[in-house]
Amino acid sequence: MQNIPMVDLVGQYNKIKPEVDAAIQQILSTAGFIGGPFVKKFQEDLQEYLGIRNVIPCANGTDALQVAMMSLGLQPGDEVITTSFTFIATAEVIALLHLTPVLVDVDKDTYCIDPEAVERAITPKTKAVVPVHLFGQCANMDAILDIAKRHNLYVIEDDAQAIGAEYTFKDGTKKKSGTIGDIGCTSFFPSKNLGCYGDGGAIFTDNDELAEQIRVIVNHGMKTRYYHDYVGVNSRLDAIQAAVLGIKLKHLDEYCKARQDVAAYYEKAFSVTEKIITPKTASFTTNVFHQYVVVLNGVDRAGLMAHLQSKGVASAIYYPVPLHLQKAYTDPRYKKGDFPVCEYLCEHVVALPVHTEFTEEQLKYVADSVLEFINK
Ligand SMILES: *Cc1c(COP(=O)(O)O)cnc(C)c1O
Repeated sequence: MQNIPMVDLVGQYNKIKPEVDAAIQQILSTAGFIGGPFVKKFQEDLQEYLGIRNVIPCANGTDALQVAMMSLGLQPGDEVITTSFTFIATAEVIALLHLTPVLVDVDKDTYCIDPEAVERAITPKTKAVVPVHLFGQCANMDAILDIAKRHNLYVIEDDAQAIGAEYTFKDGTKKKSGTIGDIGCTSFFPSKNLGCYGDGGAIFTDNDELAEQIRVIVNHGMKTRYYHDYVGVNSRLDAIQAAVLGIKLKHLDEYCKARQDVAAYYEKAFSVTEKIITPKTASFTTNVFHQYVVVLNGVDRAGLMAHLQSKGVASAIYYPVPLHLQKAYTDPRYKKGDFPVCEYLCEHVVALPVHTEFTEEQLKYVADSVLEFINK
């Protein structure tokens, strides 16, 4: 029996071990844990990679989203539209800031926020929209920017799952995911496509004024040391994480390619059955497959997952419950049946392992294990 985890971070580390160990050792021997050259270098390298004027590192992806929203001067009661099919962090920060999360359904092919649903949800109180580039592909940003422009809304991209993906606008110009709206937010959680060895995150913007505001907020609302102009937070990326990220950034495109190769293998392997609906990538975006999520068509999901587990193959459900049906987010505005696409997905999706270290033999093993159950 094989043992195939959702991600293989140890295998990935082993390939860059000498460089990572040397960088960490250097930090230990100088005790330069906070700030310093590794943080600055990574920030600059990421700006260059993304083609954006400002990258502000922070402590995690959730903070990135929270600080982004704080920087826009939104007021309690302002409405922020996002998708009901995402990780909770996206809506959590909206609620924490006493803004009103307005949830909408997703596109049936890409599982990203449905622009038409966004437009329908707009009220005079709407101030911002947060598209999530779910599972590795960009949401329809041409449509979202167009809506935002017409209704004077800020666009904050939740890019935690799609760093490295590229968006092609209708006019043919290209931008990296996270650099398209007013602000982009990402996470460097270890299992993300660009992950560190603890927690980390970053905020991207081409708007220098917003960037300045964001730099102040992540540092206790402080411009001059011990003079606090705003209520801020403490959110920073530490030097060890920045050093790891700096090394891994050089491999990001190669990591994305490795994930795409896994997806291509699965796509072909599952083309023999209609019981597995493989992910569709929209024409305007590349897909960096943060997750490989299939939709089961007439297959017992729990049975499949138990079968895979018995074969040593990990699987997971992203996400079992849509945000509008989460207990903490119970709201008289929403009930079961409101967002049929998203609710259907929650009941039928399963994520298979996808990472940068797969061998062809392992891929065959996963695909065979899935098909064995499907064809039973
Ligand atoms: C991971 C993730 C986040 C939060 O990132 P953390 O670094 O864990 O705080 C936010 N949004 C989405 C879509 C994510 O996948």
